[in-house]
Amino acid sequence: MANIIDGKKIASEVRADIAAECAALKEKGITPGLAVIIVGEDPASKVYVKNKKKGCEEVGFHSEVYELPEETTEEELLALVHKLNGDDKIHGILVQLPLPKHLNDEVIIQNIDPKKDVDAFHEINVGKIMIGNHDFLPCTPAGVMVLLERSGIEVSGKECVVVGRSNIVGKPQAMLLLHANGTVTICHSRTKDLAEVTRRADILVVAIGKADFITGDMVKEGAVVIDVGMNRRADGKLTGDVDFATVEPKASYITPVPGGVGPMTITMLLSNTLTAAKKSVK
Ligand code: NDP
Repeated sequence: MANIIDGKKIASEVRADIAAECAALKEKGITPGLAVIIVGEDPASKVYVKNKKKGCEEVGFHSEVYELPEETTEEELLALVHKLNGDDKIHGILVQLPLPKHLNDEVIIQNIDPKKDVDAFHEINVGKIMIGNHDFLPCTPAGVMVLLERSGIEVSGKECVVVGRSNIVGKPQAMLLLHANGTVTICHSRTKDLAEVTRRADILVVAIGKADFITGDMVKEGAVVIDVGMNRRADGKLTGDVDFATVEPKASYITPVPGGVGPMTITMLLSNTLTAAKKSVK
């Protein structure tokens, strides 16, 4: 029987620390501020944006949500980003992705002031993560590291396998595990004999977007299994990339879906916004 890593509980502990730091900053006259921009009507994006606003309110941040119509031009969106870059009340800017097809995600992200890039997607921040001299860490992989740390799981010297190599999860996750002195292998859709690699893992992080893909026979006895996946079943229920029923009996620690990695992502966004606000006073 695995220990279940309670992401909801850990996220609420981290948020309490953020709220306390926010209160202390407010006494110095600084209120951390986050601006979230959403373009179009994607229902999932709207839910994420609502939760980000709620998260800000919970910890005492100032927040602004810009809901722009689907037909917004690149010029209009860039004008808003540039205005927020120069706005002292705003310490973090987040553009909710994906953007409608006529807008280029990369162009917009590279125009966010790297000091306000709380998603850590700007190439300057990506480069800083690579050399281990970061201001912000991308929210989901950073959340995974906090889950490991707060669960007392040592990464140093461990065989770490990351399944998935996206720019927002897999690649930065591998880098963070490497910085924590793990021995890291990254797998992807062209990996030959995936199960042979995943079975070597002391710490297995899965971020592929395929429901219940990693099964018990692919996991070593006693492994720590972190499931980043969020997949909707036909009945509307959320499920991870890991087949919990067959993996949980073999794992020493496992994150559930929902209630594992998910709650950490917005929490780390709040943490990055707090960092940006603190840096703005130096
Ligand atoms: P992407 O679709 O961008 O990347 C998926 C990765 O998985 C790719 O690198 C792909 O390999 C790899 N992959 C796909 N199929 C296989 C396979 N059969 N075997 C091995 N590797 C495979 O997804 P994201 O990284 O954005 O997201 C991954 C999952 O995490 C999704 O379910 C997403 O919803 C979830 N997520 C959850 C968050 C949270 O807050 N909990 C935040 C962000 C994402 P290749 O590169 O070769 O194509």
